[in-house]
Amino acid sequence: MSCPGNAQLYNYGVKSYRDLPIRMAEFGRVFRQESSGARHGLMRVQAFTQDDAHIFCSDEQLEHEIIAMCDLIKEVYTDLGMAKNIIINFSTRPEERIGSDEDWDRAEEALQKVLERIDMKWVLNAGDGAFYAPKLDFILTDAIGREWQCGTIQVDMNMPTRLEMSYIGDDGQRHTPHMIHRAILGSVERFIGVLIEHYAGKFPLWLAPVQVVVATITEDIEGYAYKVKDALIKVGIRTELDIRNEKIGYKVREHSIKKVPVIFVLGKRESLENSVAIRRLGSQGNETMSIKDAIAIIKDEANIPD
Ligand code: ZN
Repeated sequence: MSCPGNAQLYNYGVKSYRDLPIRMAEFGRVFRQESSGARHGLMRVQAFTQDDAHIFCSDEQLEHEIIAMCDLIKEVYTDLGMAKNIIINFSTRPEERIGSDEDWDRAEEALQKVLERIDMKWVLNAGDGAFYAPKLDFILTDAIGREWQCGTIQVDMNMPTRLEMSYIGDDGQRHTPHMIHRAILGSVERFIGVLIEHYAGKFPLWLAPVQVVVATITEDIEGYAYKVKDALIKVGIRTELDIRNEKIGYKVREHSIKKVPVIFVLGKRESLENSVAIRRLGSQGNETMSIKDAIAIIKDEANIPD
């Protein structure tokens, strides 16, 4: 994890237990010196972006915060169609570590309690925790069975002490907060790699980089093609136009290889009738309907999950 190295960063007026929990998130760029043979597509790169967050909370808030994170991770993976493939690795204290046994007991206890309360598959990885914290790692399996560590939740009882962080509890005494490190996707680059593998490039409509290609059969209907493209863009559909002087079979093949989910095929008839022929990736036939209906259907299908 890229961790805060400067106590000043968090020194913005936190005085009381009433200020907790504090949840801070960032997309942090990190670098890892991999030997060239270890680099692997998007899966293992030298510079990547971590969706990193640090949550500071009281002891009473600890389990609640971890559960909220597990829920968030599960929700994000569900939206991305990956929820079925999650296994949590629960990694406990390693031989070489910092901090007191009491702190490790408490941190592991919190994670154990959470695992008993949430409905997710998990396995124990005894001794495999970070030197500063036990952790839950969220492991995703891609389409060909490889496992990738993505999300992580680490209960850190060491860093706050080293950063000299404190707050006044409801007992009037000074306390050190707990710090939870968490990432949902882990490396954004790796996660995109896992998603591409998982879908074999055939993303659901809402996730596809290009959602619709408007492709013309003849050159004389360019004006109509622009009109259809503009109408799609107006409702937020990522659209490209293909008005090249190529056969429609060639165009369809090319965009299908690129896994574009929807092609609007436009010919003379469509331009006269204000209609479009919808061709979906993987299907052989077209479905013809009015522009208005076609756009309404695509817009509806392209909705981002709630
Ligand atoms: Zn961290």
